[in-house]
Amino acid sequence: MTVVTRFAPSPTGRLHVGNVRTALANWLWAQKQGGRFWLRLDDTDAERSEEWFAVSIRDDLAWLGLHPDAEVRQSDRGTLYEARFAELVAAGRIYPAYETSQELDLKRKIQLGRGLPPVYDRAALKLTNVDRKRLEEEGVRPHWRFRLDESAPIEWDDLIRGHQRFDPATMSDPVIRRADGSWLYMLPSAIDDVDMGITHVVRGEDHVSNTAVQIQMFAAIGAAPPAFAHQALLTGAEGKLSKRLGSVGVDEFREAGIEPAAVRALLARLGTSDPVEPIVDAAELAAGFDFARFGRAPARFDEAELAQVNARIVHQLPFDAVAGRLPAGMTEEAWLAMRPNLSSVAEAADWWAVVEGPVQTATATDDRDFLTRAAALAGEIDWTGDPWHALTGALKAESGRKGKALFLPLRRALTGRDHGPDMAQLLPLIGRARAVERLYAA
Ligand code: GLU
Repeated sequence: MTVVTRFAPSPTGRLHVGNVRTALANWLWAQKQGGRFWLRLDDTDAERSEEWFAVSIRDDLAWLGLHPDAEVRQSDRGTLYEARFAELVAAGRIYPAYETSQELDLKRKIQLGRGLPPVYDRAALKLTNVDRKRLEEEGVRPHWRFRLDESAPIEWDDLIRGHQRFDPATMSDPVIRRADGSWLYMLPSAIDDVDMGITHVVRGEDHVSNTAVQIQMFAAIGAAPPAFAHQALLTGAEGKLSKRLGSVGVDEFREAGIEPAAVRALLARLGTSDPVEPIVDAAELAAGFDFARFGRAPARFDEAELAQVNARIVHQLPFDAVAGRLPAGMTEEAWLAMRPNLSSVAEAADWWAVVEGPVQTATATDDRDFLTRAAALAGEIDWTGDPWHALTGALKAESGRKGKALFLPLRRALTGRDHGPDMAQLLPLIGRARAVERLYAA
């Protein structure tokens, strides 16, 4: 069996971190199994779907490195839905209903008032042909419901949640099509999952009750259901379902200097019993991906943790992977010298500016003579080997200074800063001429 997964966003908004996690899980599972990963745009809601969102979804997936093997969109597939719909109507699994939303509201209120669950009473199934004809003559257009089979519980073994069981008698027959002919999410998705040969549906646990209904839809279509894995939802760092998470997406990550590999590494492990590790190689991440590792408790997404993973990813990136994003002229040697100090690739430009100068320094009076002497020595030492140790060695012997008193005035004079990359690596990049000049100027 070839594994086939799909990510099925509605192009009615930008992807947020929760969607990204769903896409990633589907992609990783397909990668691990040598399977296929589809992008399916669930754009049956013509009013809310926008082309611009479809474009942004593709761009975001590309940035994340989650390349779909193929793409379909539901708005192209109406003919297939019509055919299945007609079959299910003929089989008595889909029926027309004529209640207005006000009437349905009223029914629910009455049920709730009597302490009954607000389950649709199937009044539409009791209509005779004459009743229906009269309603249609009055110009009432029906919406359509899927008739649940109440004869047995709906059960499946969820790859994350374990055994699931729903009693269809406690559920309303879902509306699957509106009076204007437009489709609701539920049925087209099941039809597509069958038609696309989807073997695994991986999505958020907010879809668990949809799955119960869709399992009956698969049966009604005459197809075996795919396997299901429902991930617990993400919460914000505070541990609560946060509104803010709904707006955190690829744009924010990019702006914060986050690498796609960091997003993947964190989101692949959030909510699992495995530690979050700064894994750059997506294949390695896929190899360790396993639904059995996921827990049922909500997973906390913490931007500070993402920033930490990002720094650890940046520290591993080879020059080739970042060269296009570095300032002109910056060498591999310079990248390797700076990399351990960066929390984002963009920060390399700041350190490159320090190398190239000019730098601004304020020198303490006590250090003036020391630095003048350092400037003279910097002109004399051998620069071919390790000029930093040559310079500090000579200065230490002469001045008796050591530790911070020795190193900090030099670092400040040479870089204008108190902290930064290893001076032994930075000094050769600054070079003799600029070093001498900076030490004199200080
Ligand atoms: N379009 C649905 C959503 O975005 C897809 C859910 C599914 O994966 O079936 O929630």
